[in-house]
Amino acid sequence: MNPDQVLQKISDDVSKCSRCDLSHSREKGVPGEGPSDADIMLIGEGPGFHENMQGRPFVGAAGELLVELLASIGMKRENVFITNVVKCRPPGNRDPSAEELLKCSQYLDQQVQVINPKVIVTLGRFSMARYIPHSKISEIHGQAIQVKGKLVVPFYHPAAALHRPSLKSTVEEDFSKLPDMIKNAKKAPEIQIEQPYADNKDQAEQLSMF
Ligand code: URA
Repeated sequence: MNPDQVLQKISDDVSKCSRCDLSHSREKGVPGEGPSDADIMLIGEGPGFHENMQGRPFVGAAGELLVELLASIGMKRENVFITNVVKCRPPGNRDPSAEELLKCSQYLDQQVQVINPKVIVTLGRFSMARYIPHSKISEIHGQAIQVKGKLVVPFYHPAAALHRPSLKSTVEEDFSKLPDMIKNAKKAPEIQIEQPYADNKDQAEQLSMF
């Protein structure tokens, strides 16, 4: 299979996935979208109301701001791959549970593997925790970090800037650093990640067996 076919297969799998309870309440799975050779992957939290109805990521208010932020650095949403850590909407936009994150992680891992982006931009604390666990977004947002040979850049979620207007300039400033970070990717500090999502290794292993 070529990369586009692999991404299509992941989308098909997501649309009929029943690995966790989010599948019972979803309208549409939201696998993500963008070119299979994208240099940049943006990873949010999970679909909201509009995303669940349309089956596309970041199509609501946070998506509009994301498109604006990308435009401010000369990028278009069509040229980046956009997805989420959970592919189905948590009811009422609640936080995804540890179990949902773990059960859905195979799809994101497969997407990262096939796209092999130069940079992973995490939007919000849930996708940040996938790559840089035990960290605080308020302390590391806007910093480029090498994780297993890949450049990860944690940003605040655009929705955070909508809820807290005082954050908007911080989010804009973080985005403005992205082009230079991509150029200087090799110089970012490296950290080692053993076990994302779960502090308890046994629990994570048990969950991954389902
Ligand atoms: N928020 C997210 O984290 N993802 C979306 O797709 C939409 C809003």
